[in-house]
Amino acid sequence: MKTIIFLISLILLACTNSSDSYTTSSIQATSLVMDTLRVKNEHIADHFDFPVGKPNAKGYYNAQGFGKNAHLGDDWNGLGGGNSDLGDPIYAVANGFVTIAKDEHGGWGNVIRISHFLSNGIKVESLYAHCDTILICENRWVNRGDQIGTIGNAHGQYLAHLHFEMRDVIGMPIGGGYSRNTNGYIDPTAFIKAHR
Ligand SMILES: [Zn+2]
Repeated sequence: MKTIIFLISLILLACTNSSDSYTTSSIQATSLVMDTLRVKNEHIADHFDFPVGKPNAKGYYNAQGFGKNAHLGDDWNGLGGGNSDLGDPIYAVANGFVTIAKDEHGGWGNVIRISHFLSNGIKVESLYAHCDTILICENRWVNRGDQIGTIGNAHGQYLAHLHFEMRDVIGMPIGGGYSRNTNGYIDPTAFIKAHR
């Protein structure tokens, strides 16, 4: 237990002591950071993988795809069902910049949001929700396939799964996870399949 607390402290320290980290993660602050970002070649995201069972979602199934019941994302579950996937790794789907990594409370739990810059100038965002743990810091670049967190249950509200969204508008409000209005949202599985 002491080791776990020590490790958690280390992660928190690593996030708060960094020289270029920002103390707030409001949408406004995120926009400011995004405006001053220098996107180098190594940051470009032209190849996308699935966020679980890297790289092809092996061992997982999409229990509720984009558009089903007005769902705005995919729900990734382990083939074992129930909470068998609790604590499994979540991976960054592509190179990108972490804009949000925090507890959003409500039905969301711990949420990670990453902005991705394609070589054709298009920007998309990936969003990973209900996480059990967050293993990266805000305002940091990550690479495709980096483990960024673990699959969770939004503080015990659901059976463990990853609610995964992709958006073609960066920095929108967190939203509600379900809507018939899909403006700013894209089908994550279709997008990833088109950008392997
Ligand atoms: Zn969902």
